[in-house]
Amino acid sequence: MEAGGCGFCRMADGFSDFILVRKKQIPYSDTVRVAQENNENLSTTALQTCPQQGQCPGAGKEHMADLIHPQNTIAVIQKYNFRFQKKYGQNFLTDSHVLDKIIRAADIQKEDYVLEIGPGIGTMTQALCTYAGKVAAVEIDRSLIPILQETLMGYDNVAVLNEDILKLDIKALVQREHDGRPVKIVANLPYYITTPIIMGLLEGRAPIESITVMVQKEVAERMQAAPGGKDYGALSLAVQYYAKPQMIANVPPNCFIPRPSVASSVIRLKCHRTPPVFVRDEKLLFTVIRASFNQRRKTLANGLKNASGLPFSKEQVQNALRALGMPDNIRGEALSLEQFARLSDELAAASE
Ligand code: SAM
Repeated sequence: MEAGGCGFCRMADGFSDFILVRKKQIPYSDTVRVAQENNENLSTTALQTCPQQGQCPGAGKEHMADLIHPQNTIAVIQKYNFRFQKKYGQNFLTDSHVLDKIIRAADIQKEDYVLEIGPGIGTMTQALCTYAGKVAAVEIDRSLIPILQETLMGYDNVAVLNEDILKLDIKALVQREHDGRPVKIVANLPYYITTPIIMGLLEGRAPIESITVMVQKEVAERMQAAPGGKDYGALSLAVQYYAKPQMIANVPPNCFIPRPSVASSVIRLKCHRTPPVFVRDEKLLFTVIRASFNQRRKTLANGLKNASGLPFSKEQVQNALRALGMPDNIRGEALSLEQFARLSDELAAASE
């Protein structure tokens, strides 16, 4: 194999060199033009099989490295006459460095079972198949299935499920396919349903080791926000109850086809085995948290009194706050997860 990787598909024989060489950033409009002006049959080029024998991890597999290149993404799209569907949040990743960062952050090992949400044309799926033991790729858009059948043809460790991730019983899938051992989730998420997907994964009680995902930058900032800031809210507290978030990279719109209208970030959530705080009634904790941020400008005592699903008077909330040494006029954004847990326990005791 050549220094720096396989000369054909640029797969390198070692994780640190993992392909993904992209020479030049080309804007989307230009990549369409370049693809159209190019005389060679790009559809074929994009899907060629690596001819190397043995020395390259991509040997015998579809032309892995090049799917990430904008021209080849366009070639695949043109070959199948694929129409992007805005309603499915389809922005395909075309930057090799970003893909590399996602794969590294997810820390994929040969014994891992990986669940990818929304494989698109299979760019990230190919990388996951190379490093994981087994991959399940859940794609809602039926028109992408024939494309995935071709781009993933060279891998025998992947199952493509044409399903809606919000309706999939992940717990049952992991039980069936991985004996209930923790799965790693990796995805460039459809932004229109980021929060329901993340909360469904965290609250669903499926065994999950980590969630490494591309999301809207603003959402990633909310997930890892600390008390006091403008980004801190119900999402920060819910995510941090179940996992430890770590920001991996910021990603500009020109790393996708088509370009999204917002900036993106890759974030990793390492799931806790047990929550970092103990609380008597988890459901009450999250009802209190949601009610506290429903009306951010109000004090906690005013926000929680008679809030939907909560039977507490203003006086009961103030008494609970005083018992915890907090001022009557404190706002939700000032409380840590631990303080919310204590407040929830005080309120639970008050209603007994
Ligand atoms: N992974 C690909 C990539 O990085 O190029 C595509 C990412 S694109 C941002 C999001 C993908 O999620 C699309 O393929 C879209 O069709 C799919 N998707 C959208 N909603 C979905 C849902 N509810 N369940 C499963 N897949 C979904």
